[in-house]
Amino acid sequence: MSATILTRHLHSHGLDLVTDTHKYRKVAALRPLNKGSVVITSRPLCNPIIFPTHSAQHCETCFRTKDSDSSTDSGASAATGAGSGRLELERCSVCKKRYYCDRDCFTVAWKGWHKWVCHDKDMEDLDYEMLKMIVISIERLRNGAFKESKQSVVAAATAAAAASHGTGEQESLALSEYVFSTLMGHEAISDPAQISKYREIATKTREQLIVAKFPFKSENSRGEPPSVAELMRYLCRFHCNNFSIHDSQLFTMAEGTFPIGALFNHSCRPNAIVMYEGQTQVVRTLEDIAVGQEVCTSYVDNGVQRAERRQLLRGKYFFDCLCPRCGEEESGVTTKKAGFRILDDLIEGEHDGEDGKKVDGEWLTKQFETIILPGARSLQVAGPSLQPPTMINRSSFTSYLIHSMVPLIQTGVTEQEYTERLFEIYSALQTTPHCTPKPFTTTVMTNATSFFNTSLEHQSWALASKIGTFILALYLMIYPRHHPLVGLHCFTLAKCLWNDVEGGMTSVRLSHEILKLSRNILTVSHGRTGQNGGLVEEIEAFMRTVETELGS
Ligand SMILES: [Zn+2]
Ligand SMILES: [Zn+2]
Ligand SMILES: [Zn+2]
Repeated sequence: MSATILTRHLHSHGLDLVTDTHKYRKVAALRPLNKGSVVITSRPLCNPIIFPTHSAQHCETCFRTKDSDSSTDSGASAATGAGSGRLELERCSVCKKRYYCDRDCFTVAWKGWHKWVCHDKDMEDLDYEMLKMIVISIERLRNGAFKESKQSVVAAATAAAAASHGTGEQESLALSEYVFSTLMGHEAISDPAQISKYREIATKTREQLIVAKFPFKSENSRGEPPSVAELMRYLCRFHCNNFSIHDSQLFTMAEGTFPIGALFNHSCRPNAIVMYEGQTQVVRTLEDIAVGQEVCTSYVDNGVQRAERRQLLRGKYFFDCLCPRCGEEESGVTTKKAGFRILDDLIEGEHDGEDGKKVDGEWLTKQFETIILPGARSLQVAGPSLQPPTMINRSSFTSYLIHSMVPLIQTGVTEQEYTERLFEIYSALQTTPHCTPKPFTTTVMTNATSFFNTSLEHQSWALASKIGTFILALYLMIYPRHHPLVGLHCFTLAKCLWNDVEGGMTSVRLSHEILKLSRNILTVSHGRTGQNGGLVEEIEAFMRTVETELGS
């Protein structure tokens, strides 16, 4: 396995790996990539680990969810798809910690990896389990015991996902392992306390593998597990390249190593996103990407402030971000910021509430009650730039953002046009006087989100519709327009509007428009094919119900 095979693999997906002075290397487009297309599907190096809090909900082998329709096949376990009804999971009778949908899935897990970790007392610490699984996976590959077609449910799932998206060459485990070996581990600059913890894990894992008599048969293993130093390298590489795996609603439930996915660099303004279909990783474009342009995903939530992102990126991934939002470090010279570089100044600052008083439901209700919902028709056509309001408060901010941005998504204008409009808004928000507290800080967003959830619980649909519209305005200011978070929020907001009977037909019409928005965004972020495609179908079914009500 060599760099040539990696290059060929990436080329088959219209991608190229280019060396870069700042970033070591980057993935760039070899051909134009349309927004909403699947760039590449990627397999995990070993079976991902489901978080203990979620293990009772998912089959460890095929990742299918408890209570899901058992006739919906994941593409991984063709033998299990018989009959319909809700999927039941059974747990391993020995450790009582892992769950499986049937005998086949249990057998695959048991033979593949589970019997080597099932008895471990350290299973609570996911690092032990992950390290052992990486070792097993690499050793099997090296000693020829790995049968791609027979043993790997993961390979089958990746193949099914790749086929459903019609992407390039299929990734072999040998390629995943090769790419894993080239990833940066940053051992030299890691925290000494962390390194000593890794040494402890590596030492113990090595001993456990010897006691358990795991068959190390490959030529360079000489019958023994890899050295402690080698195991520490695995851990370092794993920690600065692992992914949190989320479901279609963006709830994280597992973590895993996806070496090919880890080749993509980070941007706080990404043009691609990582999604999952079971344990297969799917990289999708959020905007059209031109030939030669770098394809970036995001390693952190784009909604957090610059300082927090910087800390996360430095602490876990060992780099300082130079993306369009973070930019170059200013060296004492005060330059006027423009474009995305203003965004973080805008969302920083003042806490929510009045003169340091604690925010409560009554105060928040007062803040959101003034919001006037937009008319459905005003969101359909993208007009010339709007005049910013003379004073920015929650209500005028919502109206300004929603009326300016939503039509740009509904009509699918180019990214350039959309970005130009966004920059106009940023600069207007910077110069227009605003009320106190500033209505668009991350603190305000956090409070609004939790208040929105409370209103949903209380079924206060009218209020929830207003808060939800305000949150949508904030999302449109902060996140890329086709970010799945924006689309998912729209779906929830549309349901609030639909349920708000006081709003009458005005509310129903707006609900339809927001559903359309949700569909347009999620068609890009989730797609219409593959396992996540069901969400767009669900939205369209809901749209038809609303259309019946509207009599159209
Ligand atoms: Zn299963
Ligand atoms: Zn077990
Ligand atoms: Zn950045």
